[in-house]
Amino acid sequence: MKTKQISLFATDKMQAPTHILTGVLLQKLFDSKRHQTVAQIITALACYFSHGLLDKLAMATYHPPVADFSDVFWVLYHLAVLLITVLLLYVYGSEYKWAIALALLPDLDWVVVHSQHLFHFDIPFYNEPLLHNALHYIIDNTPGLQLLNNLPDYRELYSACIVEILLGLGILSAVKALAQRRRNIHF
Ligand SMILES: [Zn+2]
Repeated sequence: MKTKQISLFATDKMQAPTHILTGVLLQKLFDSKRHQTVAQIITALACYFSHGLLDKLAMATYHPPVADFSDVFWVLYHLAVLLITVLLLYVYGSEYKWAIALALLPDLDWVVVHSQHLFHFDIPFYNEPLLHNALHYIIDNTPGLQLLNNLPDYRELYSACIVEILLGLGILSAVKALAQRRRNIHF
């Protein structure tokens, strides 16, 4: 097994609440009673792909490459992220479970890779974050999206958490706006 050190927090990754809200938004966006199967397939692909895009954006948000439990801000921020994750799963978990699961699915990589390090077993074909690598391959080879690799590295900057907070609030507003529109249209 490879001994390469990969910390749970040593990756360019968006926080779970942003992925969850994106899953909810995408399911709402593509929801269709008439073309249910097509809507589900598009939602599933969009949710998975959105994970890669958000993780690329994470470079410009507060995500220190290494966990620092002695840093009060780091601890409080991640505690808040955990609480918001639980709250969002409580609110949206049952109605949007598949979209949320697919939006979060690539992070299964870290569970599998770290479990092998922690519990000393080896899955030969899964020593690397395969789902993330596939997403990065697609994004890095898609004209236009390559520009995401030029984002500034703000991962160590406390104030860069505002980028993710604003993004999350923006997605939440879009979710609420869509819900409101559906309510007004009555379908
Ligand atoms: Zn990720």
